[in-house]
Amino acid sequence: MTKNPNSISAKDQTYHLHPYTNLKVHEEQGPLVISRGQGVRVFGEDGKEYIEGLSGLWCTSLGFNEPRLVKAAQTQMEKLPFYHSFSSKVPDVTAELAERLVQVTPDGLDRVFFCNSGSEANDTAIKFVWYYNNARGKPEKKKIIAREKAYHGVTVAAGSLTGLAYAQNGFDLPASERILRTGCPHFYRYGQEGESEDEFTTRLANELEQLILSEGPDTVGAMFAEPIQGAGGVIVPPQSYFPKIQAVLKKYDILLVADEVICGFARTGKMFGSEYFGIEPDMMTMAKQLSSGYLPISALAVSDHLYQTIKEQSNALGVFGHGLTYGGHPVPCAVALEVLKIYEERDILGQVNAVSPYFQERLQSYRDHPLVGEVRGVGLIGAIELSADKATKTPFDPGLAKAAGLMKKCEENGLILRAMPGDCVAFCPPLISEQPDLEELFNRFDKALAAIG
Ligand code: PMP
Repeated sequence: MTKNPNSISAKDQTYHLHPYTNLKVHEEQGPLVISRGQGVRVFGEDGKEYIEGLSGLWCTSLGFNEPRLVKAAQTQMEKLPFYHSFSSKVPDVTAELAERLVQVTPDGLDRVFFCNSGSEANDTAIKFVWYYNNARGKPEKKKIIAREKAYHGVTVAAGSLTGLAYAQNGFDLPASERILRTGCPHFYRYGQEGESEDEFTTRLANELEQLILSEGPDTVGAMFAEPIQGAGGVIVPPQSYFPKIQAVLKKYDILLVADEVICGFARTGKMFGSEYFGIEPDMMTMAKQLSSGYLPISALAVSDHLYQTIKEQSNALGVFGHGLTYGGHPVPCAVALEVLKIYEERDILGQVNAVSPYFQERLQSYRDHPLVGEVRGVGLIGAIELSADKATKTPFDPGLAKAAGLMKKCEENGLILRAMPGDCVAFCPPLISEQPDLEELFNRFDKALAAIG
């Protein structure tokens, strides 16, 4: 049967170049068209209902039809649909949001720069590292350390920090010799035979120190780290990891940039993943749950010390020469302000901490499943890693596309999750999820798992 060329699917297959999609398979099989959202659920064009177990792309914390956010956007659109922050001008809501973010971020982060995406915020953070070290007379201190399996975005600089082959192969990334790579704190995968968790994190900290010494501490400017590595497979580091890493960085005067694009705003049960893991970042990037994904906005919070140095250099150069047309756009800022108000009024932290024990318990119940190698998670984020052999932790043959097959079964059962490299399946439900929503999510997942088992 030939397809109707006017169908949404046909238009998409013919005209749309999709991000992070197998383009050949897509042309043959077409998209899953999503037309509507309500609460933690979305609906296909055929009316089929799905629980969104990944909050879209780790972002729709308040679900898919929060009327207050619609209202905030509309009111701002009517009042002032665009203004910028160049040349000392500013929309009122942008200044309000900057103040609010300084209030909610950990102590010591005192200034906020706005961008539109996580990638841009991380690109901006890289430029700040370089600008800062030029400003303080250390022009050699420019190399940046990122980790295996890191995800910091796709633009040329942030994409260079990302440590996943599928995001770099064919794109000539990393694009700079200034990017250094260090180990990933995934104990299950990289812990050695007989090594304790504590010995593992000591080894990683030692490896980091050796890397810094071999490159020359005066050439290393910063390390970027997600508190939990999201797209790399929801990798939760041992609690002893960050204090040891941070001690090494401090010793060599190297900045730590926390990429809170996924972990920020209550996902871990703390306002920021940095608080959960004892990280004291010099800079912090945020996006996604900042606007509940409703409009594009990201932010970079920096320490006062960094800001003061940047300010002095700007005086020397006349102007701080960095900015994006839509950075601090009033409409997403108004939405983000409303999101932060809702988080406070509805005690979103309390909500996450109330339902996360159930969420983690259901997740952990898969630990004994014959196809599951590891289960990991914190707060309302988690993953299971499939394994062909539990005892030896042997992965499945990638050709079997085991996790992708499981995703298909999830979709058939009305559940959207995300498969990641290494046959991991990520769970990141909206923060507004109530226990019955989570029960239904896992009941659907049970059926999908049984279907591939
Ligand atoms: N950092 C992290 C930790 C992310 O998970 C992502 C996106 N998934 C990004 C940065 C990039 O964000 P964006 O896609 O908005 O550029």
